Amino acid sequence: MAKEKKGVRLEHIVKIYQDPKTKKDFRAVDDVNLEIEPGSFVTLLGPSGCGKTTTLRMIAGFESPDSGEIYLGDQAINALTPNKRDTAMVFQSYALFPHYNVFDNVAYGLKLRKLPGDEIRKKVMDMLDLVELTGMEGRQTNQLSGGQQQRVALARALVVEPGVLLFDEPLSNLDAKLRVSMRTEIRKIQQKVGITAVYVTHDQSEAMSISDEIIIMNKGRIEQMGTPREIYYHPSSRFVADFIGEANFLQAKVKSMDGETAVVNVDEHDMTVKNYSKAAVGETATMVIRPEAAVLRDEGLLPCKIVLSTFMGAYQYYHAMAGGELIQITDYNPVGRRIYQVGEQAHLDFSPESVYII
Ligand code: ATP
Repeated sequence: MAKEKKGVRLEHIVKIYQDPKTKKDFRAVDDVNLEIEPGSFVTLLGPSGCGKTTTLRMIAGFESPDSGEIYLGDQAINALTPNKRDTAMVFQSYALFPHYNVFDNVAYGLKLRKLPGDEIRKKVMDMLDLVELTGMEGRQTNQLSGGQQQRVALARALVVEPGVLLFDEPLSNLDAKLRVSMRTEIRKIQQKVGITAVYVTHDQSEAMSISDEIIIMNKGRIEQMGTPREIYYHPSSRFVADFIGEANFLQAKVKSMDGETAVVNVDEHDMTVKNYSKAAVGETATMVIRPEAAVLRDEGLLPCKIVLSTFMGAYQYYHAMAGGELIQITDYNPVGRRIYQVGEQAHLDFSPESVYII
């Protein structure tokens, strides 16, 4: 349905704002370089204030970079106003016209483009069918639920057939259950239409479930870009490991390395792990253990003491002291396995593939 899938490229993008308190300039976006493939769904993810919304707004043209260049396809677009760019944005607040009904909200962009009436009608009705709002075209927008309003906003953005669709935290105003079903819906529609999508969220599970690629931002910079799987299993920094999913960190001394694996020593115990670290033999690296990557056994790699043991239904949740750190462990479907109690000694055990140093 999109005319042409377009990629997006940012080259050395900088945005400087003045801190209203200190009156000092700071880089809200600090030398961002990225390339988004045509037709892919890419999410900007990071903590509040990391610069993700500013980056999105610069692609849309609502903000101008202080330096750097933005490309849509092969076209440099810095000088273009938002309505001259081949983008459309879906906002957190929906931003619908309250005095228009559903049909007129969706038809708005087509009327501006002075399309013939029958063509407008066909495009709007097709779009309402796509977002499953057929029959609602005569409703006022204040007679719609939040989820329905966001569907109207999505239809309004898609109907003008932009090359790139931009989303600014579109699900933030919806309740938790609706957010989950709407994100699946948005992904389905994006794949059906085959449009390039850039999506901003601070919700990591939203980002994981919806994206081809995730861009993790921190303090105006890109920390890592990769598929959800790459980011989860191969984080480039402690910040990324901590931001995506849960992670335990232990200091580990590197004893030897062989390609992608290393033998490390934690608390006088040697173990083999995956090696994503730049540390040399003899240096200390950070070992990352996801809570689901380790199990508790009577015999194993690293002795520990249980300090919390809680039944959570799907899993037994533990806190264990090991190597001087508190380690969280989620033991899924523990039926038939020993449940350790607070105060007991045990061992952390894991396969060399599931634990890594960075
Ligand atoms: P959030 O998830 O809270 O929306 P974000 O990652 O989207 O955060 P941005 O909205 O891009 O962050 O803001 C980045 C930084 O720039 C923040 O420190 C913010 O306070 C600041 N900022 C944003 N807009 C302006 C502005 N118009 N003037 C001054 N500072 C601004």
